[in-house]
Amino acid sequence: MMRYDFNDLPVAGDKKSSRSRFLYCANSGFLRHAVTVQQGGHGDDFLALMSVHQQLGQYCLDSGLILSLNAHLWGAIFPLINYGSDAQQQRWLPRLLSGDMIAGHAITEPLAGSDINALTTTATLTKKGFVLNGHKRFITNAPIADMLMIYAQVEHKLTAFLVKRDDANVVFTDDYSVDGCALATMGEVVLDNCLIPLGRQVGRIGGGGMMIQSALELERAFIFAGLSGIMEWQLKTVISYSRERQIKGQFLGQNQAISHKIAEMKLRLDTINLWLRECATLKIQKKRISLVSAETKLYASEAFLQSSLDAVHIMGAAGLLETHKMNTLIQDAVASRLFSGSSEIQKNIISALLGTGEGYKGKQKK
Ligand SMILES: Cc1cc2nc3c(=O)[nH]c(=O)nc-3n(C[C@H](O)[C@H](O)[C@H](O)COP(=O)(O)OP(=O)(O)OC[C@H]3O[C@@H](n4cnc5c(N)ncnc54)[C@H](O)[C@@H]3O)c2cc1C
Repeated sequence: MMRYDFNDLPVAGDKKSSRSRFLYCANSGFLRHAVTVQQGGHGDDFLALMSVHQQLGQYCLDSGLILSLNAHLWGAIFPLINYGSDAQQQRWLPRLLSGDMIAGHAITEPLAGSDINALTTTATLTKKGFVLNGHKRFITNAPIADMLMIYAQVEHKLTAFLVKRDDANVVFTDDYSVDGCALATMGEVVLDNCLIPLGRQVGRIGGGGMMIQSALELERAFIFAGLSGIMEWQLKTVISYSRERQIKGQFLGQNQAISHKIAEMKLRLDTINLWLRECATLKIQKKRISLVSAETKLYASEAFLQSSLDAVHIMGAAGLLETHKMNTLIQDAVASRLFSGSSEIQKNIISALLGTGEGYKGKQKK
């Protein structure tokens, strides 16, 4: 497995540093895993990708950087690999793999979050190209992105388009962030008669729904590789704390209420890693991951939140210090229950794949 030396990773701070931290990883070749050599990748597999993401998480402890890299990978690079034309791959992949261009995907709108069927952004075909109108929000990387994969309706058929920051009549804003994964940049996209050339349509007209599912399946499966690296640090830190802090002459960890919490944190982390391996193995075998990626995301995000609450509790008020990493991980974990589809949406996917749930209309009469 490839090992990275992240020692020169720029120090985290403002949005400028978010960009330079992203670029540092990209320049090291971090975006080329699980991509074939012919397409400009390292030619390794999803287990290798999982391993390097874990390494990065353990080193950087920055859920925002992990979110930013994953939005670029699953939101733009892999949709182009899976659905882009040869010309699109030749034109965009080299720049996306090297980090020469930063990207992400823009699905969510003010009136359409969990329900992608409610998306209202439109793309109208004209002689000169497509004209896009609409409003996207909560878009990871928008403030630093050169290009975004934007999903819009072409006569009610959801379709993907590549929109560049310097296209006419589009603004990628930089005016707010949510509290979780705060070091990832976030913004809105406002499209007001934005004209793009025909060659920027990715996949077929009406293929956007399938592309979103495919992108989110990968994002759900692998974003927790980096986050599990952070959880490894979280566990090690509370173990050390419990072995050093004394209360009434006893080490904290000797208290069974504390040591059982630590045992549960270990079990959650190991279970996440088993789920990740399962996703990676299925990808290597070129099998579907719809079910396992929803299970991984549901389990891992809930486990991340519970372990983050436990870690702060074990450390007492020290863990709640505003600047303490343990405290920020709680917010990161809450965000992880929402991005790439909330926990409720993962349960809907799992139950639908089992032939039950909200979409079930009863047995069809023969
Ligand atoms: C850190 C972060 C990064 C993000 N990055 C991106 C990005 O790069 N690109 C992008 O397009 N979007 C992004 N998002 C947006 C994210 O995809 C949405 O927040 C998510 O899909 C939920 O949509 P919503 O916030 O509008 O909530 P809503 O859809 O309004 O849901 C509100 C609540 O209702 C529940 N709910 C909704 N529908 C159902 C249902 N059918 N059954 C049961 N419960 C339901 C939800 O689980 C949730 O608890 C990001 C979000 C966060 C927090």
